[in-house]
Amino acid sequence: MISAIKIQNIDDPMQIEKNNPINRLGWIEVICGSMFSGKTEELIRRLKRARIARQKVEIFKPAIDTRFDDQNVVSHDENSIQSTPVESASQILLLTNDVNVVGIDEAQFFDDELPAVCNTLACNGIRVIIAGLDMDYLGKPFGPMPSLMAMAEDVTKVHAICMECGDLAQYTHRLVKDDHLVMLGETESYEPLCRRCFLEKNQRPCAP
Ligand code: ZN
Repeated sequence: MISAIKIQNIDDPMQIEKNNPINRLGWIEVICGSMFSGKTEELIRRLKRARIARQKVEIFKPAIDTRFDDQNVVSHDENSIQSTPVESASQILLLTNDVNVVGIDEAQFFDDELPAVCNTLACNGIRVIIAGLDMDYLGKPFGPMPSLMAMAEDVTKVHAICMECGDLAQYTHRLVKDDHLVMLGETESYEPLCRRCFLEKNQRPCAP
């Protein structure tokens, strides 16, 4: 029975927190996936639960991301939570005194310092929850996300539904012609697709 409990602790970060509230290091959780996969909703859900547990929570997003609202992390279902826009990842270190939990949304738009910043926060006893796009519109790993996923204790990959065939979608397909990597458009500018439909729409037939 003891070994079974230990396995459960590794699988569920909330269990670690519950069972070992003092003298612990922090850790890193990553929530990743395509657009429309519910990443931000899951981030907000975890942060609200942390607040219910009387944890002091701070939320950051890159200042570049102003699609919906300057101050709030806003998800597509209009669930929202107060956040602070920051110009660079290192700014987060200056704004996290006496914090138990740090939430970071749209992590793919941060600079390459973000993994080191998150590592420092976790080593200082802070639970770090990161949400971001794991791939860009070309299907390539996005910004600091690969490093964050490698360093995290826990990675959750969430999926959207393919707009073509209804399968699970992991790609974000851009519907308008624009070669800029960062194009903060309206939701109509993108659609989630599965591997097969993504390859077809990009004229790269899926290998047999
Ligand atoms: Zn599909």
